[in-house]
Amino acid sequence: MKRSSKRRKVNLLKVLIATLIILVIILVVYKIIIKKEVKEEKILMLNIVGEDITKAKKDLDKYSLDINITYEYSDDISKDIVISQSIASGTEIHDHDKLDIVVSLGKIDKEKLASDGINELGKVPIMMYHGIKNISNSETDYIGGNVDKDGYTRTAESFKEDLEFYYQKGYRMVKLSDYINGNIDVPYGKSPIILTFDDGNANNILVKGLDEEGNIIIDENSAVGILESFKKKYPDYNVTAIFFITNNLFNQPEYNDKIINWLVDNGYEVGNHTKGHNNFSNISTEETEEVVGYMYDKLESIIGNKYSKIVALPFGSPYNKTHANYSHIISGTYNGKTYQTEAALRVGWEPEVSPFDKNFDKTFLKRCRAYDNNGKDFDIEMVFNNLEKNRYISDGNIETITTSITNQSLINDSTDKQIVLY
Ligand SMILES: [Zn+2]
Repeated sequence: MKRSSKRRKVNLLKVLIATLIILVIILVVYKIIIKKEVKEEKILMLNIVGEDITKAKKDLDKYSLDINITYEYSDDISKDIVISQSIASGTEIHDHDKLDIVVSLGKIDKEKLASDGINELGKVPIMMYHGIKNISNSETDYIGGNVDKDGYTRTAESFKEDLEFYYQKGYRMVKLSDYINGNIDVPYGKSPIILTFDDGNANNILVKGLDEEGNIIIDENSAVGILESFKKKYPDYNVTAIFFITNNLFNQPEYNDKIINWLVDNGYEVGNHTKGHNNFSNISTEETEEVVGYMYDKLESIIGNKYSKIVALPFGSPYNKTHANYSHIISGTYNGKTYQTEAALRVGWEPEVSPFDKNFDKTFLKRCRAYDNNGKDFDIEMVFNNLEKNRYISDGNIETITTSITNQSLINDSTDKQIVLY
């Protein structure tokens, strides 16, 4: 009896083990089959060449490809038709595959380009602001919106007027770093403008406190508050600006770090105005490297590499690039680290040349003083009147440089963009 019960137990164990093995085998086989089925559900690239880009985009909507569209002129392929696709049709595709599509702009309509005055070799205004004071124009003792004689500080009222004026004149903002790199992305027929603010005055971005989530609350009558209202009013204005600051940052110790982070996270730029607003004409080369390198280090400690490697020269000094300190502003060493300045801004009086002009020198860019003087001495009115003769007017295509054939000799021939002459 005892023996047979033992044998039965052994048998039961054998059956159990066998069942387990069978279960495992079924599971493995099932998994292989399922996997095979998934593998069989391959997604293949469509052919979009020859299709209208609007339809092609709709057809591609169901896949999550990273699509990059560029446009080029073509004599044989009509406007908006896809010329080429970087992934051949029938190729297996996966989420986030990169697909480059080239779309035709059709034949160049030289008459239209000429009559619209498209000119990407025209001039670009880089406006220089300092402070924005929340008062009206009637409350100042000076002309127009100037709060001081030279208009270094302008009234909030006049700053709003300036922004309205630039927009109505067909100017659209671009980042200074995009301008220096020739990435001027403004619509057809529109012109680029760049806004700069020096010195980190608290009224550039005045913080009233923090909200429940700890985000800064920006005074709506400070420069950034006003810029943000224009962002809402004119979404196609492409609102941006660059702020050049010193060791005092935005003069709001409680909020400085939050402000600088907010700016770069919201489409603005922050650049270098030296550690102590130093006059490069009066200091040694060692001090030059210290006051430039210190600020880069400081910005890096707050926002990592999100700052702009651009210096606005305090007092616009030195006045020429032959000065012994100049090369040390452009490159140097501080705290055991080397720095390379991409561009430098002086104080000027008239707009700069196009970044595609062979005379373009990003290390010594002129700025226009944003101030009022009854249309004289290069005030805002005079600068924009003069610009009517030679302003940069975009062809709306970042890949091409369009200008009249009379400007051909001005073009920097190291460009990799397609040149369109009319
Ligand atoms: Zn300054």
